[in-house]
Amino acid sequence: MADIIQLLPDHVANQIAAGEVVQRPSSVVKELIENAIDAEASIIKLIVKDAGKTLVQVIDDGKGMSVTDARLSFERHATSKIRTADDLFQLQTKGFRGEALASIAAIAHVELKTKQLQDEVGTSIVIEGSNITSQDVVVTPKGTSISVKNLFFNIPARRNFLKSNAVELRHIIDEFHRVALAHPNISFLFYNNGSEIFNLPVSNYRQRIVNIFGGKTNEKLVPVSEDTEVLKIAGFVGKPEFAKKTRGEQYFFVNDRFIKSAYLNHAIGSAFDGLLKNGLHPSYFLYLTVNTQSIDINIHPTKTEIKFDDEHTMYALLRSAVKHSLGQFNIAPVLDFERDPNLDTPYSYNQKEINIPPAIEVDRTFNPFIEDYKSGKQITAFKKQTINNWDSLYVGLESKGTKTEQDFSEVHFESNNNSESLFDDNKLDTVQTTYQLHNKYIVSTIKSGMMIMDQHRAHQRILYEDFLENLTVKGASSQQLLFPLLLHFSKQEIEIIKQLKEDLEHTGFIFSNVTNETIEITGVPISIPESEVSIILEQLISDVENEVPDSNFSVTDLLAKSLAKSLAIKNGQPLKKSEQEHLVNSLFACKEPNVSPTNRTTFVTMSVDELDKKFI
Ligand code: ADP
Ligand code: MG
Repeated sequence: MADIIQLLPDHVANQIAAGEVVQRPSSVVKELIENAIDAEASIIKLIVKDAGKTLVQVIDDGKGMSVTDARLSFERHATSKIRTADDLFQLQTKGFRGEALASIAAIAHVELKTKQLQDEVGTSIVIEGSNITSQDVVVTPKGTSISVKNLFFNIPARRNFLKSNAVELRHIIDEFHRVALAHPNISFLFYNNGSEIFNLPVSNYRQRIVNIFGGKTNEKLVPVSEDTEVLKIAGFVGKPEFAKKTRGEQYFFVNDRFIKSAYLNHAIGSAFDGLLKNGLHPSYFLYLTVNTQSIDINIHPTKTEIKFDDEHTMYALLRSAVKHSLGQFNIAPVLDFERDPNLDTPYSYNQKEINIPPAIEVDRTFNPFIEDYKSGKQITAFKKQTINNWDSLYVGLESKGTKTEQDFSEVHFESNNNSESLFDDNKLDTVQTTYQLHNKYIVSTIKSGMMIMDQHRAHQRILYEDFLENLTVKGASSQQLLFPLLLHFSKQEIEIIKQLKEDLEHTGFIFSNVTNETIEITGVPISIPESEVSIILEQLISDVENEVPDSNFSVTDLLAKSLAKSLAIKNGQPLKKSEQEHLVNSLFACKEPNVSPTNRTTFVTMSVDELDKKFI
């Protein structure tokens, strides 16, 4: 049989390589900025249009390229950075594989302009899908400008795979943060669709972090510093009280290169042991310097993972350095041996209300709706409750404050498909009893047997529908704050808030002033305690950032979901009988009581028949 193996033509090989190196516009941003850094630029300008889908341009004032180098730079495996395999273990540069420009030129329209300091004129090259279409002599400043247009123009499948501009821009900003944080000695400018997003002057690490994440960041940072023979650590961790629900601001740099490491992340986590509430993540900006011989960067094409010779030592050193800093700055709790633990009030007692007469247990016939109707007042019966988020349970109630007894019974017949079969309506007030299981599930008797409801999900559903109604149909009432609330955010977080401002105002927020870094709030929705506002907005921003918008993406919907998620009573929260009943009733007044806003089951039922079978 004839030989069938052939060498692939270069442009095909380049396209294959591009699949690994260039996943999205942000990969182009990363590669071009890294090249500019390797060229020893002192000012780097990044210009993107349509989140990089139309244009990514990087202009640097670095050393530029000669005519021959300019041409060669687009060849695969063409690099000025290493010569022998040994050099792989002495790397001082970001790049070394010599495949970025070749890969990018295989899948986009690329224009290069470059000039070295000593030359009078520079070189311009246009290359499209690996074909050089023109090469000219040009007048251009010292340094290099590379424009990458119409990314994936020749691979429609990849182009279609790109996410919305908001998501792609988010990736670019992430990539930009990573390089900018690693190189405070370089000035960076970043424009998107003509507007300036970042203008970062030369500074030190701390100022760079603050310039990127906003003025308020400064007071959150605890310095970390350690110098051993194998590892030097510099940088900062965020104070525990500023820990976030999302893993946003977590950065490791090894020899000025951003890397991902779940293992080292764990080291930081364990240094924070006991200092963070469950589900919160510390922020950190840690700059590690190690001997180049002790790491291998060449294990992944995007070079964000590296292999350490001695990972265990890294882990131990990092953990102890962070622990030490937290201790030194009085952040870790101090053990107090003098104190007699017997004198401490048990936790559960702290929460108890003192002036509730112990004799009154629960009024089983109490129904908040009916009470409301008869007295004509807002429900205040349980407002004394001190548990967090408590007021929020009444969100549904307060906005429906005009409901009559008539409405109440209608609710059970009309808006709930299951209600007719589920509850024995005549006996509802007297017979329906609830029981809270493990502070998590509400068990309730229904006509056919019993129902078990997840309190957190159910409440999310109730709040979600309520917010949605406020957002789309009527404005919610808001509660004026005595003193305006000034909150600090980073620039891009402010951008997100600006986008959501109008919708937020429908929920009851009143913004008096929005600047580049701060927002001033003079009114909040009645359902939101003032102390929770910043955490709720933070959650909302991270939800918006993480949402991958599809065709039916709706900001209003996301906002309602996010607020409902933040405000819903949590699992683990004890509820009084009347509160449990109220929750059950409100859930079944919802349009879609069966699932939470994120499509999770809110309750399950078990009929007496099913139970009978279990006892056979
Ligand atoms: P690598 O960075 O791995 O060497 P690239 O494909 O990114 O590979 O770049 C190829 C070569 O082109 C580099 O080694 C460098 O010599 C040259 N080059 C690329 N970008 C620039 C730039 N902005 N300034 C000067 N030289 C550059
Ligand atoms: Mg490179």
